[in-house]
Amino acid sequence: MHGISVSSGIAIGYAHLISHTSLDVAHYVLPKSFLDEEIARFDAALAATRSEFASMRSNRPTYAAAEFDAFLELHQMILDDPLLSVAPRELIASEQCNAEWAIKVQTETLVAQFDQFEDAYLRERQTDVKQVAERLLKQMVGQPGHQPPSARHDVETILVAHDLSPADLIQFKPHQYGAFITDVGGATSHTAIVARSLSTPCVVGLHHARQLIREDDLLILDGEQGVLIVNPDKLILAEYKLRQSVWELERKKLKRLRTARANTLDGTEVDLYANIEKPEDIAEVKANGATGIGLFRSEFLFLNRENLPDEEEQFEAYRAVAMGMEDQPVTIRTFDLGGDKQLSGAKRVANNPALGLRAIRFCLAEPQLFRTQMRALLRASHYGNVKILIPMLSGASELDQTLQFIEATKQNLDDEDIPYDRAIKIGGMVEIPAAALALNVFARKLDFLSIGTNDLIQYTLAIDRTDEEVAHLYDPLHPAVLHLLSRIIATSNRLGVPVSVCGEMAGELAYTRLLLGFGLRQFSMFSAQVPTVKQRVLSTSLHEIAALTQKILRSDDPMKIRELLDRLNS
Ligand code: PEP
Ligand code: MG
Repeated sequence: MHGISVSSGIAIGYAHLISHTSLDVAHYVLPKSFLDEEIARFDAALAATRSEFASMRSNRPTYAAAEFDAFLELHQMILDDPLLSVAPRELIASEQCNAEWAIKVQTETLVAQFDQFEDAYLRERQTDVKQVAERLLKQMVGQPGHQPPSARHDVETILVAHDLSPADLIQFKPHQYGAFITDVGGATSHTAIVARSLSTPCVVGLHHARQLIREDDLLILDGEQGVLIVNPDKLILAEYKLRQSVWELERKKLKRLRTARANTLDGTEVDLYANIEKPEDIAEVKANGATGIGLFRSEFLFLNRENLPDEEEQFEAYRAVAMGMEDQPVTIRTFDLGGDKQLSGAKRVANNPALGLRAIRFCLAEPQLFRTQMRALLRASHYGNVKILIPMLSGASELDQTLQFIEATKQNLDDEDIPYDRAIKIGGMVEIPAAALALNVFARKLDFLSIGTNDLIQYTLAIDRTDEEVAHLYDPLHPAVLHLLSRIIATSNRLGVPVSVCGEMAGELAYTRLLLGFGLRQFSMFSAQVPTVKQRVLSTSLHEIAALTQKILRSDDPMKIRELLDRLNS
């Protein structure tokens, strides 16, 4: 099968099927002799969920609105409906599958039916069906079941899912699974970004993998080519084992560059920074020799949790990174929530979340949440070289409002005699074409700029970065994108405002020389990629690439651009 490679490496392992984000369950086939017991497990979970509802009803706080009763009643009705209380039993028997899987399959069938309703209210009731199913599944956790057929190491397990959210992936972090594959998703979705930061091979956009692959199938995932091989023969398996060891050897060799400075052949120094999602990531940052954090996506502190981290918890997290990196720069981006990173329990997801209340827009609309973060950030700045980065700026008034907000927070800390770095640098992300075109608005008032190519490309080409159906149109080499990039870099350099690229383009070897040729001197990427890019910088002469880069910029023929780029990289 062919998909979109989003995180390189070669993995060989056994398939483990998992389901949609909220209904995240395994599938396994059971021997006939276990089926009665499995149905009894399902019945027990059903009974436990019923009594859970009964106790919710009797313990209802007196102040709860009457709607609470109506809601409970609706959920009880859904639970008691034979479509949820009987059909899964039949599925367990007919498919010989585990109860969790039967609940999941039946729920998906029901949700698909609700999707067909013309009436928006009725269609919306699919959320209630999912919520009831989740309640039932949670009860299943307490009903001891059969283990998947063979207990094996996580690294030999390849997770196969229709879709995985960034929040799912971050949860898998401690397991170190062998690889991830999904049916949907684009190369610069946050799911892909997290897979790269875990250094776990990942291919997305495989369309029907989840349907076609069975639990325990032997898989080879080639994260370089975006190829998945199911149940390979011995010869192919041997070939890939060899490729896997060659790949691992290469990576080990590259790590020897860890302490080398990233200078071009003509002696220009280039900063190679890392992107992180969690404080724990700094071990990897150091192991790969990045000399600072160019982007800490702080919103990952929020994902997978019911309650929001308070000021103290955030402060500890930011301070840990600031201190861990000693005096090296630590650029912490304020929450970029919304889009494909929703808070759990988000009340409403907009029709076009990428164009909606996302990032700085969201923060300005939730001043309480923003103030908490800002206080924590400023307090942490006392302990290291912290910089604050504002995502998704689109206009002057938004920028002014944000800067005033920061000033007011500083004032509060002054009033309370709490120390912070008074010279703290505030930067902005250039990831909306409007910001790129009206760069002066931002460059005048900010201390530094960082180009978010993932979004800049998404918004310039009107391509949803999470949607594999349009992934083929996502093109960093589109002349419009190249012009914007070279212009942002040139303008920033002219104005003396430091500029970096922290989108995925910064870590793609194919673009290293091109960006250097545009005048870029700061790159921020997933840690594991730093040694590879460093090797490319070390072998580049700025003098030699200058003419060819300009030629690429002048060309508007996509074929020609690719041809010239190949020459640049050869
Ligand atoms: C970007 O848009 O390029 C970026 C770095 O931010 P994110 O990927 O988190 O949206
Ligand atoms: Mg972005």
